[in-house]
Order: sequence, then C-alpha cells, then structure tokens
Amino acid sequence: MSNNDSIFQIRGLKTQFFTSKGIVPAVDGVDITVKKGEAVGLVGESGCGKSMTAMSTMQLLQYPGRVVAGEILLDGENLLEKTKKEMDEIRGNRITMIFQEPMTSLNPVYTIGKQVSEAILIHENVSKEEAKQRTIDIFRKVGIPEPEKRYNVFPHQLSGGLRQRVMIGMAMVCNPQLMIADEPTTALDVTIEAQILYLMKQLQKEQGTAVVMITHNLGVVAESCDYVYVMYAGKIMEEAPVRELFRDPKHPYTFGLMNSIPKMTEVKEHLYTIKGLVPNLLHLPQGCRFCPRCEKAMKVCTMYEPDLYETEDGHKVRCFLYNKEVMNSGK
Ligand code: SF4
Repeated sequence: MSNNDSIFQIRGLKTQFFTSKGIVPAVDGVDITVKKGEAVGLVGESGCGKSMTAMSTMQLLQYPGRVVAGEILLDGENLLEKTKKEMDEIRGNRITMIFQEPMTSLNPVYTIGKQVSEAILIHENVSKEEAKQRTIDIFRKVGIPEPEKRYNVFPHQLSGGLRQRVMIGMAMVCNPQLMIADEPTTALDVTIEAQILYLMKQLQKEQGTAVVMITHNLGVVAESCDYVYVMYAGKIMEEAPVRELFRDPKHPYTFGLMNSIPKMTEVKEHLYTIKGLVPNLLHLPQGCRFCPRCEKAMKVCTMYEPDLYETEDGHKVRCFLYNKEVMNSGK
C-alpha cells in the first residue's frame, strides 16, 4: 500500500505483558497504514492482538502491558512520544474509539446530551449553547429520533442500537482524523448491525475520517472496509484490498476463516473449521506460528518464521508458500 497520503501509520509495534509466568508478546511487530478517508479492517480470532493494537494506539494499556518498540504516527506525529496531557488532548478529539458495549463508555448517571456536549466543551472553545446545538445536530445526523427530547434521556432509557448511535455521534462530533471501532456491532442484531455500518460509512465519507474497524467478523469487513489486515497470534498474516482478499485469499489461515463462513449457494452437512487452537503466546511454536494448525505445513515451516512476502496481485502474505526461493528449493 502507498504511504504517501497516509494519515495513520503503525510501524513495527510491539506490545508485551510482563506477567509472573513470563513475557506475553500480544502485538509482535505490526505495521498498519490507513489513508485519509479510508476504512481498514483488522480481523482475527479473539486474543490475536487486534484490540491490544488499538489500546496501544490510544495509550490505554493496563498494567502489566507496555509498548516496547515501534512508532504510532498520526499525521506524522509519533503518539508514543506524547505526554499524558498531550494524549488527553488527542483522545476524543483527533482519535476517537467506539467499543462493543456502549454502556461501558457512557456514564449511567448523566443524560446522553450532557455527555456529548461535555465532549465538545472539553476539546473546543465554544459556548454551552453552541455545544448543545451541535449535540442535537449530531444526534439528528446519526438517526436518533426526536433529538431535542432525547437530549435529556439517560443511557438506560435507550435500546442497544440507539446507544451505539450515541457513541458514534460522540466519536464523530469533533471531526476526528481517525476513528477506531472495536467490534462496534457484535452486540447488535443483524438488521441494526447493517444500519450502524451504513451510518458509519456515510459519516466516514462525509467527514473524510479514517477508520480502523476491529472485528472477528469477515462479513463486517466486506460491508465496511477498503483494505484488510488479517492478524493471528500477534502478527499480520495477510493484507490486501478487501475485494482482492475475498476474491483470492492466500494465507492458509485466511483461507480457513473464509471457508468457515456458511455460503448461501452451497449445501454442506458440516461447516469447515480450522483444526486446533490459537497458540498460547507464552509458548509459541518454533517457526511459523500457524504451523500446528496448517494443512499445508512443510518442514521449513517448523524451523523458520516466514516474512511478509508480496505477491504479484498485491497481497502481502506471511507464508513460505509465497516465497519463490523456498518453493523452488523443495524444502
Ligand atoms: Fe502453513 Fe507453512 Fe505457510 Fe505457515 S508458512 S501458513 S505453516 S504453509
């Protein structure tokens, strides 16, 4: 991917947890690039490191987690060099985040109107009246019916779908450069999920916001992203434009993920499953970390860790099957 017009870049990010049992490499040398106005998917099973990548970006890692290497660049500025005060300014203003469960982010004792107005007042020099009007406007924009009335309701008085709309409104009200959405529709039913994804896409295009969509759901990626990174056990395994990835998944892990989705056009007695379990990050296998689960594993895979190799049609794949030297040597 071209980095010229990128607004957000993660370079060589390593995040580790220093536990009594050893060091857990939750994010292990991740590179991600997002262009202005682009939506990028970060997809993988639970525990693959996608949420830790987001928490590292927001600098919201909990003890004993720590970023030990890399750069996180927002419009060229390395967020890892910012002071706590500077990060407080950036969070909620230039970068915003939406979580799976809005109730974890919304304060139950304040009205939704007050919470969104506060977000504006903290980051911008506007009057209370103006903040209130902007809150009502964004509520209208994200499809909250009767926004003037709803300004004064508490989060528990809204449905899950409406609460997530409030969160999207709060995330977008200050025109952020980047919005990170961590499983934003997982707790919603499919009809509401489609509405929320459509809404996010609309706002993203209107405001030119870059989006990182973290999900385990390839359907969400297909629906809402331009480019996708597939993550496994702390590393990026494959990256490609979304259409390309769906047309021709190359990494055996991506292939397995795609195959395990039911297809309308096929009748199958059993759905495909990727055999085995995600490895314990404290005891990663030698060589390729997907090797114990891979149906195409070769001898070389048990000895060395593959790099990301670029294929002719623009994928980057961390697999020896795409390394000509290895394949020609018959290892
Ligand atoms: Fe499978 Fe080997 Fe490729 Fe790893 S490097 S995904 S084990 S073929």
